[in-house]
Amino acid sequence: AVSVAETSSILRKLKEECATPLPVLRQVADAMSADMRAGLAAAHGLPMIPSFVEDLPTGNEKGLFYALDLGGTNFRVLRVQLGGKDERVVATDFDQVSIPPQLMSATCEELFDFIALGLAKLAAKDDDRLNLSPGKKGEIGFTFSFPVRQTSIDSGILVKWTKGFAVSGAAGRDVVACLNEAMERQGLDMRVSALVNDAVATLAGAEYWDNDVAVAIILGTGTNACYVEQIDAIPKLQGHVSSSGKMIISTEWGAFSKRLPLTEFDRAMDAASINPGEQIFEKTISGMYLGEIVRLVLLEMAATGELFGKSIPENLYTPFILGTPDLCAMQQDNSGDLQGVGSLLYDKARVESTFSARKTVLEVCDTIVKRGGSLAGAGIVGILQKMEEDSKGVIFGKRTVVAIDGGLYENYPQYRTYMQDSVKELIGSEKSNNLVIEHSKDGSGIGAALLAASNSMYK
Ligand code: ADP
Repeated sequence: AVSVAETSSILRKLKEECATPLPVLRQVADAMSADMRAGLAAAHGLPMIPSFVEDLPTGNEKGLFYALDLGGTNFRVLRVQLGGKDERVVATDFDQVSIPPQLMSATCEELFDFIALGLAKLAAKDDDRLNLSPGKKGEIGFTFSFPVRQTSIDSGILVKWTKGFAVSGAAGRDVVACLNEAMERQGLDMRVSALVNDAVATLAGAEYWDNDVAVAIILGTGTNACYVEQIDAIPKLQGHVSSSGKMIISTEWGAFSKRLPLTEFDRAMDAASINPGEQIFEKTISGMYLGEIVRLVLLEMAATGELFGKSIPENLYTPFILGTPDLCAMQQDNSGDLQGVGSLLYDKARVESTFSARKTVLEVCDTIVKRGGSLAGAGIVGILQKMEEDSKGVIFGKRTVVAIDGGLYENYPQYRTYMQDSVKELIGSEKSNNLVIEHSKDGSGIGAALLAASNSMYK
């Protein structure tokens, strides 16, 4: 009886500390707006990285363009024939290549030669729907999801590799130059005309189909958000000459850390992470971490509350043994006896559970997922209200679309619902009638190709 009391007191405390009532959501949204402004002005607040994307797709783009996406263990190449306003996307062709593990720690030349070869293979395929105008070079939109310092649309210095990459001789170099040189070695007459991250490419892809898209969000393993900003609202770009007067800004909101309801479990996870003290918002709302937070809570409940019996299941000590897809699978279990929860706990972590332990596990999952989804919603409202403050009516006075992509958003219905509820609670039902949150599935591929078109050297 003592242990049951222990477990329920841990659960009660967890729920209290993770709670996201309206005042908490409002503080997070307000702090997000304030950190955006600080980051646009100077080197504090959010990074607010200028993308140098100043022309969004209009729909008039015509011709053959390429997209290349490097951001994880796969790279993807796409070519698309654009037919202008009426015909739009005439044809596409696509290849996905997994990167051999040894190349992830090879030299810069070896990695980029491999990528250029993949591109050459796709470019060499005969397809009479896909044709480059005679005399023109193939142009590429390069989606590169690692930290780069950008000073123009078609160049960017790699700051450091992340996600398991340890390629030598690339940090400090312009990744566009690396790719251009590799293409030259392959005898491939192509050039990169736009270097972007996946959030920026998603925004461009969504904008192509719908001019009301103002914000794009990635919610997958990690998270980011970008939006269209007025050049004169970016003090740190003072003097930058722009014909459109606008630029997409990548907020890098994963780095946000103010006013978040955090627990001892979040602090323990952060301390054990490869980047302690960094990316706190990301660690609270994105797919890489939700399962791990739940594991730490269950471990504590097993240790002091005997949640799974007298001994602690050994596997619960293994970091990342529960993934966010596992939480999602458990939360879809509608069976009366929670058989699905029980077998998942056993399959993943060799945990034997009683019915009452399974109910507790589900409550823990729901608490962490509710907090994550609700805070993501508050972040979205933070961006929208910053834009609205700058120019009344531009967001809430008309139809506005937020485009979202990523495996977490796509696959986790409870997370999506909590996110939408939080947005609605914050902005009120009247304004939320004008707001559309939509899934922009794989929009980043076409988006990058469109940015190659809108930044073409032949324009
Ligand atoms: P990326 O790794 O580039 O972010 P995705 O956008 O496909 O790629 O996101 C993958 C992430 O989405 C996974 O790491 C996981 O956290 C989350 N995810 C994938 N499937 C599910 C699922 N069924 N339920 C919940 N989260 C999922």
